Amino acid sequence: MKRRASLVILLLLASLAGYAQISIRIFARTRPASVFFTADRGHYILHDDAAGELKIMQGDIVAVTLFNNRVVYRTLSGTMGAADSLSFTPGDPNSLFTLRATGGNEPQKTLEGSLRVKPFPGSLQILNITTAENCLPGVVRAEAGKYGPSDYFRAQAVVARTYIYRNINRHELDGYNMCDDIHCQVYPGVVTDTVIVNACRATAGKVITDRDSLLIEAAFHGNCGGMTASSADVWLAGYPYLVSVKDPWCSYSASSTWKKNISRKEWNSFLSSKGITPGTAGNLWPAQQSTISRIASRTINGKTVTAEEIRLRFALRSSWFSMTPAGDSITVSGRGYGHGVGLCQDGAKHMAEKKLTYDRIIAFYYPGTLIMDIKNARRPARP
Ligand SMILES: [Zn+2]
Ligand SMILES: [Zn+2]
Repeated sequence: MKRRASLVILLLLASLAGYAQISIRIFARTRPASVFFTADRGHYILHDDAAGELKIMQGDIVAVTLFNNRVVYRTLSGTMGAADSLSFTPGDPNSLFTLRATGGNEPQKTLEGSLRVKPFPGSLQILNITTAENCLPGVVRAEAGKYGPSDYFRAQAVVARTYIYRNINRHELDGYNMCDDIHCQVYPGVVTDTVIVNACRATAGKVITDRDSLLIEAAFHGNCGGMTASSADVWLAGYPYLVSVKDPWCSYSASSTWKKNISRKEWNSFLSSKGITPGTAGNLWPAQQSTISRIASRTINGKTVTAEEIRLRFALRSSWFSMTPAGDSITVSGRGYGHGVGLCQDGAKHMAEKKLTYDRIIAFYYPGTLIMDIKNARRPARP
């Protein structure tokens, strides 16, 4: 009997863990000290921890500002208040609000769910309390673009959902789950693109796991150039599903090849910074573009240099390239766009155009993985 009760509790916990609300810090990068809240659809209840509740009708605007380490608000009709923390909760199931930062160049965001605001040193800490499924279409559009076939967006939705749940405790010490900036996943707010919203709904709750039901590190990038990179080469962290895969699907894209000139002087100073004496012809990067292979690292004069550090130092489009001397400069010829690990977006899009379904796309770029409901998946102890 006791055993059954604990099983029921465990199942409840598992499903709660899957679909619980998440808190996202809004405007995490610019951290404004004041914002405008507009009730776009439906009404909201403003809870002021000092004075109580206030009804915010559809169309009403509330200015919220940090002042003397308190949150001060003022409505259009002139109602004012100051509190240690404020929250706005939706009064209708379909309520929507817009948040606009003042004085910054952040675009405004339309959001679902509720909002909590409290003072943060020099700014406001603004948290949107919503669900992973509600914020997923916005994340997918920010990461995957607006245009593409349905199965491309389905694959991206499952990838983004996997990322959210794997990293749900990333800001645990800050008191929220995720931020809306590239540090976690860019969240532009609610979007209404039908193909994206439908792709998220059609895959609701689905995530990618390894054979032990652990959520995978769902890395992705723009274009692999014909062969994906292994995470062991790029990040020095190997996963059995982030291995190099030969990709025939992305060569149609303009991103699959590129060229860039860097000056010999910059290259030499990079080598010097690595403790390598520059100047000899053998000091260039020698990958052969005609063969399908990536070179992750190379030893020059006894020092190891990785392609990834060269990519970051010279802002190259990818870490798959070769160099040829061209007078005072060096021509870098490369393939692909991004770090090259995991799902290749151009390739995934093309697979979907050729009527391959999202599960086939995921199986291709993350070999040996499973797709399952978040209720049955587990989060690694230390992502
Ligand atoms: Zn973050
Ligand atoms: Zn590719």
